[in-house]
Amino acid sequence: MRFTTTLAMANDTIFGKILNGEIPCDEVYSDDLCLAFRDIAPTAPVHVLVIPRQPIESLRSAAASDQTLLGHLLLVAARVAKQEGLTDFRTVVNSGEAAGQTVFHLHVHMIGGRPLAWPPG
Ligand code: AMP
Repeated sequence: MRFTTTLAMANDTIFGKILNGEIPCDEVYSDDLCLAFRDIAPTAPVHVLVIPRQPIESLRSAAASDQTLLGHLLLVAARVAKQEGLTDFRTVVNSGEAAGQTVFHLHVHMIGGRPLAWPPG
């Protein structure tokens, strides 16, 4: 029951709508576990989001059983970076509003194509 509620909520996000084809995206990679597409408001020449097909609200709500999936998302981010011709890139996962999360469907930002300052804001 709890899972059903979580699923319905997560599918209400903009990324849920992208996953079920309700709204389009600029896809760069897809497999059984995840989808990667270009961010609509890129912060760098390359800015791709990698999202699980399974609706997980945030990294903070991921479970031990998500371990393989989480590793897969990072490997796909690296694969897409290579596909985009990047050797240097940054991966970011914002968890929670105060950390900058605006879409509550877990996603990995893969950003590159320009020098990136550290620390972030
Ligand atoms: P975050 O702030 O970490 O939750 O990241 C959400 C990201 O989703 C932002 O960088 C947005 O620009 C991006 N975004 C929102 N809507 C879309 C969309 N329809 N297609 C692609 N990226 C989107």
